[in-house]
Amino acid sequence: MAFSLSDEHRAIRQAVREFGENEIVPVAREHDEQKKYPEAIRKKAAQFDFVAPNIPLEYGGAGMDKLSSVLVTEELWRADPGIGSAVGSAGFGTDMIIEFGSEWMKEEWLPKIAAGESASASAISEPAHGSNVAGIETRAEKDGDEYILNGNKMWITNGTVADVAVVMAKTDPDAGHRGITAFLVPTDVDGLTADKIDNKLGIRASDLAELRLSDVRISEENVIGEVNEGFYQLMEFFASGRTNVAAQAVGAGQGALDAALDYAGEREQFGKPISEFQAISHKLAEMATNVEAARSLVYRAATAVEEGDQDLASRFSSMAKLFASERSVEVADEAIQVHGGAGYVSDHPVERYYRDARITKIYEGTSEIQKTIIAKQLL
Ligand SMILES: Cc1cc2nc3c(=O)[nH]c(=O)nc-3n(C[C@H](O)[C@H](O)[C@H](O)COP(=O)(O)OP(=O)(O)OC[C@H]3O[C@@H](n4cnc5c(N)ncnc54)[C@H](O)[C@@H]3O)c2cc1C
Repeated sequence: MAFSLSDEHRAIRQAVREFGENEIVPVAREHDEQKKYPEAIRKKAAQFDFVAPNIPLEYGGAGMDKLSSVLVTEELWRADPGIGSAVGSAGFGTDMIIEFGSEWMKEEWLPKIAAGESASASAISEPAHGSNVAGIETRAEKDGDEYILNGNKMWITNGTVADVAVVMAKTDPDAGHRGITAFLVPTDVDGLTADKIDNKLGIRASDLAELRLSDVRISEENVIGEVNEGFYQLMEFFASGRTNVAAQAVGAGQGALDAALDYAGEREQFGKPISEFQAISHKLAEMATNVEAARSLVYRAATAVEEGDQDLASRFSSMAKLFASERSVEVADEAIQVHGGAGYVSDHPVERYYRDARITKIYEGTSEIQKTIIAKQLL
C-alpha cells in the first residue's frame, strides 16, 4: 500500500497552505474571540475548491481523492482549527447524498454547497444518545406520502447556518440500528428550530446548535437511500469521517509546533535563545516526531479509504483518529510550555490550538470508542 504524495498532492497542499496563511491566519484570533462564523472565508475557499473537496466534478465540486481531501483539512486546521472547521465542515452530510441520494437531491444541493453558497449539516447525535447511534429516538412516522419527524438533535455542526441537513431518524423504533432512515431536510421547513450553542471550549468560529424537530413534514421523496438502511449507509462513511478528524488533529498539532519553533528561536533567557536549552530542544523533537507519526497514520488511513479496503480503512482510521487526537492535545500542551507565561494568554495562538485540538478526541467517535473498535479487530 503506497501513500506517498504525488506532485498534484503537493500542489494542493501548497495552495491550501498559501490560502491559510493569507486568508485565515490574520483573522483567526478575532474569529475565535468574537465566536464569528467565517461565511466570507467559506465563500472564498470555495473558489479554490477547498470546501467539500469530495463533491464530484459533475456537481460543481473538485472530485478530489481521499488523500487530497485530507491534505486540505490538515492545512486548513494548521492555519486555524476554528475557521478550518467552519470551512471544512460546510459539506457535512454530502457523502450520504452523493452515495445514496436521488439525482434531484444531488442537482439541487451539491453545486450550491461546492460553490460556498450553502452549507449542510449532518444530524445524528441526540441529547441522550451520542456514542450509541443505534439508540437514537428521533421518530419519523409515515403519513400518506409524507413522513412526520419529531425529536431533538444535539451538537449539530452548522446547525444555525446550514440550508439543508441530513437527519437520521427511527422509522422502525423496535428494530434498533435496523430501523434508522436518513432524510434530507431543508432547514427552512416548518417545525424545525435551531438553538445556537455558543459556549464552546474551542473551534469557536465553527457553528454549533441543537435542532428541534416538531411535527416536521417531509416528502417520502426526501428519504436518502433505503428506508431502515440509514445506519448501514452511515457506517460506510465512518472510516472516511474519522480519517478527516485525524487530519484535523495533525493540522492543529502542526500549527502548535510551528508556533513553538518560532517562539523558541526568538525568546532569550540567560543570554541565549531558549531553543539552545536541551530541555526545550528535546521537547520540540518529541513534538515533531509525534506530529509526523500521526501524519503517517492519517495518510495510510486515507489511502485505505481510497482503495476501498473496508477492514484496513476501519482499522487505520480508528488508529489514526485515536493517535492523532491524543498526540495533538499533548503537542499543543507542550507548545504552551515552550511559551512559558506567554503561552497562557491569547496573544499567541498556542492556547487556541490547545482548546481547539481537544474536540478531536470527542467527535466522530470518542477515543474510548476508537479503542473498542481497534480491539475488536485484534481479538
Ligand atoms: C463541537 C462538536 C461538534 C459536533 N458535531 C456533530 C455533528 O455535526 N453531528 C452529530 O451528529 N454530532 C456531532 N457532535 C456530537 C459528537 O459526535 C458526540 O458528542 C460524540 O459522539 C460523543 O457522544 P456524547 O457527547 O453523547 O457522549 P457519550 O456517548 O455520552 O459519552 C460520554 C463518555 O462515555 C464514554 N463512553 C460511551 N460509550 C462507551 C462505551 N461503549 N465504552 C466505553 N466508553 C464509552 C465516551 O467515550 C465518553 O468518554 C459534535 C460534538 C461536538 C462537541
